[in-house]
Amino acid sequence: MDLLEYQGKQFFATFGIPVSDGRAVTTVEDAVAAANAVGYPVVVKAQVHAGGRGKAGGVKLATNEAEVREHAGNILGLDIKGHITRILWIENASDIAEEYYASFTLDRSAKKHLGMLSKEGGVEIEQVAVDNPDAIAKIWIDPVDGLSADVCRAWVKAANLNADVTEDAVELLCKLYTAYVEGDADLAEINPLIVKTNGRVHALDAKVTLDDNAEFRHEWDEYATTQVRDAREEAAHAKGLQYVGLEGSVGIIANGAGLAMSTLDVVNQAGGEAANFLDIGGGANAEVMAGALQVINDDPSVKSIFINIFGGITRGEEVAKGIIGALEMVDITAPIVIRLDGTNAEEGRALLAPHLSERLQSKPTMLEAAATAVALAKKN
Ligand code: GDP
Ligand code: MN
Repeated sequence: MDLLEYQGKQFFATFGIPVSDGRAVTTVEDAVAAANAVGYPVVVKAQVHAGGRGKAGGVKLATNEAEVREHAGNILGLDIKGHITRILWIENASDIAEEYYASFTLDRSAKKHLGMLSKEGGVEIEQVAVDNPDAIAKIWIDPVDGLSADVCRAWVKAANLNADVTEDAVELLCKLYTAYVEGDADLAEINPLIVKTNGRVHALDAKVTLDDNAEFRHEWDEYATTQVRDAREEAAHAKGLQYVGLEGSVGIIANGAGLAMSTLDVVNQAGGEAANFLDIGGGANAEVMAGALQVINDDPSVKSIFINIFGGITRGEEVAKGIIGALEMVDITAPIVIRLDGTNAEEGRALLAPHLSERLQSKPTMLEAAATAVALAKKN
């Protein structure tokens, strides 16, 4: 789950990373009260799940109550890249000497954590990577070794930060690494990481993505309240399905994450776009299949449905019975194409045969099934 800036800063603060004193508010009056509490000047900041808020007019400095009123009034309701601002973060303003960039994320191909540090912060790091890639010092950290202060110091030196702040930066970055690992984050980014005019290093922004699979060992309920989730994903997860909403028009049901991924590929290969990723897992019984069909059927962008099942431990006839049973439970609007293969596929297809029609077709191969589903989606 993605945290809003203020939540990211709360997360950082629990690991001892210096952040500014601030308050999250939802009204102009509360913004004024918050500003009086934290002390002027303050920064009024839009809390939305999008970057580039500064450029969009969502970050404003206010030196008195009238300015807080003005900015808070303007920013509440502001649309930032399609996200309407409902929450403001009012924080005590910092005097900035320098703006750096720092982050930790997972480099899956290297099977290591990747730290990125740059003295060119405050701007989009993607842009720095294009214009001046040498300005980003990268470090790959073996999770078993962790990040020692010595290695961190060498990294800070490689990034050419102001030498006066080396020790302060090392301390903050080691804490950021701890927050990232122990806090179970997939991403912990500070942009800008500032040097204040008093020489102290400080997190002025926070972008944190937490690993949802680790939720059971944390107290994340408060973060969860502000999540904006895809309604389809909400419904699917409530049914215990592994579902990811996508942009296309071919609804997909497959058993096994690998097969579901391949199904997306083959739909692409056939010239279509999947409406979702959906893995119903190993046992394709009628209830699970019905739940999956329900979720897909409720998605108005779905124009055809492709059920791609490979019988393994769950045999073909069980799968066929599951599909037939599910069709009795759910009133499906889009045409369905089934590809059933694997253990006892013949028996399964024989069970399906009497139910087949224009609206429910069976194809022997993945590619044929995908081509049919894509053609139907384009026709509907
Ligand atoms: P973003 O645009 O969504 O990344 O929002 P940031 O929180 O990074 O703020 C954008 C920019 O606003 C920063 O790079 C700073 O230049 C400026 N800014 C934010 N907070 C302060 C502050 O407390 N004092 C000053 N002087 N500038 C700030
Ligand atoms: Mn930022």
